[in-house]
Amino acid sequence: MIALRIHETGGVDKMRVDEIPVPIPAADEIRFRVEAAGVNFIDTYHRSGLYKMALPITLGQEAAGVVTAVGTAVADFRVGDRVAGVRVNGAYAEEATIAAAWAVRVPAAVSSSLAAAVLLQGMTAHYLVNDTFPLRPGQTALIHAGAGGVGLLLTQMAKRRGARVFATVGTEAKAVLARAAGAEAVCIYTKDDFTTAVRAWTGGRGVDVAYDAVGRETFEGTLNSLGPRGMFVSFGNASGPVPPFAPLLLAQKGSLFFTRPTLAHYTQTPEEFKTRVSELFAWMAAGVLQVRVGVTYPLKAAAAAHTALEGRATTGKVLLLP
Ligand code: NDP
Repeated sequence: MIALRIHETGGVDKMRVDEIPVPIPAADEIRFRVEAAGVNFIDTYHRSGLYKMALPITLGQEAAGVVTAVGTAVADFRVGDRVAGVRVNGAYAEEATIAAAWAVRVPAAVSSSLAAAVLLQGMTAHYLVNDTFPLRPGQTALIHAGAGGVGLLLTQMAKRRGARVFATVGTEAKAVLARAAGAEAVCIYTKDDFTTAVRAWTGGRGVDVAYDAVGRETFEGTLNSLGPRGMFVSFGNASGPVPPFAPLLLAQKGSLFFTRPTLAHYTQTPEEFKTRVSELFAWMAAGVLQVRVGVTYPLKAAAAAHTALEGRATTGKVLLLP
C-alpha cells in the first residue's frame, strides 16, 4: 500500500510516497481502509521536527474509513464498520491501524470526510470553550485565525455558549467566513492592529479570554488585548513557538492567567474522548455545527497540502483522500 512518510525531518521535500506492507493490527487494534485523512497543523510540526517523533514515520493522526481487520482481543468492531479516530498510527496511508479503545463508530448521517474533518479540530474547540476557559454568556473572546480549521469551529462553539467573539483573519475572504461562523467583529490583522481594534470593541477593557494558536507573531498583541484577570490560552504555534517570558509580565498586564493546553490532556481516557465526539456528531446531525471542508488533495499530494496549510492559503479543513 502507499503511505506518506518521512525518514528525516525538514521541509515538505522530506515527504515521501513509500510502498509499504499493509499493517497487521495488534490484538487490541483494528485496521481500516482510510477514506479520508485529516491534515492538521501538528502534522507539519512532526514533519519539521518541532515535535519529536521516532523515524521513519507515516504522517497523520486523524482519519475515517472502513474496518478491514480486527485484532484477536477486539470485541466491539467488525469488518465493514465505519470508524474514525485521532490516535491513528499513520493516517496518511491507504490503510491504517488504531487501538480499538480510541476508535469511534461514525453515524450514518456523517460522511467519512466530515468525520475526518471534525474530530481533532472539533474536540480542540470543544475543550477550549468548555473546560480550559468555560465561557459564560456575555463574555468576550478573541479568536485568532478565525477562518482556519480550529477557528471556524471554535467561533461557532463560543457563540453557542453565549460568548461574543472577536476574530482575526489574514484576508477579506477569510473575514466573510469568520463572520458567517458567528464572529461579531473581525480584524484583518495582516493590515490592521488587532490590539487597537479589540480595545475599541471592548470599550477599552480588553477581552475575558484570548485563544491564540498563531503563537510567536501574535503573542505580544494578544497579551495587550486581555482585560484584567483575563486568560491567555496559547494552544499552538502556526507562526512559531512563543518565546520564554517572565511570570512578572502577567502581573504587569493585569494579573493574567496563562495556559498552554493540548488535546491529549483533554482526552485522557477513551471515555472522555468519546463524550466529546458524541457531542460533535450530535451537533452535526442536528445541523447546529457546520463543518467546512475547504480543500481536498489526493494522498500522494500531501506535500502540497502542507504547503497550502503552512502558507495560510487554506480555510476550514484540509483533507487527503486516498
Ligand atoms: P488552521 O487551519 O488554523 O491554519 C493555520 C492558520 O493560522 C492559517 O490559515 C493562518 O490564518 C494562521 N496563521 C497566522 N500566522 C501564520 C503563519 N505565520 N504561518 C501559518 N499560519 C499562520 O490550522 P489548524 O486548524 O490545523 O490549527 C490551528 C492552530 O491550532 C495550530 O497552531 C495548531 O497547532 C493548533 N492546534 C492545537 C491543538 C491543541 O490541542 N493544543 C489541537 C489542534 C490544533 P490567517 O491567514 O487567517 O492568519
